[in-house]
Order: sequence, then structure tokens, then C-alpha cells
Amino acid sequence: MNFNHLIERSDLKRKCSTLGHVECYYQPVGDGQTTVGNNYHVTMNCKNCGRRTEVFMSEKQYKLHSNVLEREISNV
Ligand SMILES: [Zn+2]
Repeated sequence: MNFNHLIERSDLKRKCSTLGHVECYYQPVGDGQTTVGNNYHVTMNCKNCGRRTEVFMSEKQYKLHSNVLEREISNV
């Protein structure tokens, strides 16, 4: 599953260095971690070129996505 909908637009603008002309295909690689103020951050990794980016989301957003995030992470 592709998690690009959670990635910042500015990150998506940088094309994948492996595929050249398309967006990176980001997948979560770690558990969400709480940061200050009940925000979560999740590390995303492009399965094609290995680029990493951090995604920040509110607790509410994280809860919304947590089932699918956890399922993906356990598949890695
Ligand atoms: Zn990539």
C-alpha cells in the first residue's frame, strides 16, 4: 500500500531518483512516535530509492491511520 496521501506535497514534488519521472512510493518503516503536544511522527521510506521522510500527524489523524500503518509495518 502506498502512503503518499500522508506525505507533504513538497516531498512528493521531488521525483523518485530510481524511477526518474514518478513520485516516490512511501511506506512506513517505524512505529508512530509521540512528539510534543500529542503529535505523532512516522518515518516513511521509498521502496524504490530508499529516500526517507518524516510524516507528522495529529493524534486524531494517527488513530485514523494506525490500523493500516501497523499492518504495513509488521509486514516489513
Ligand atoms: Zn523514491
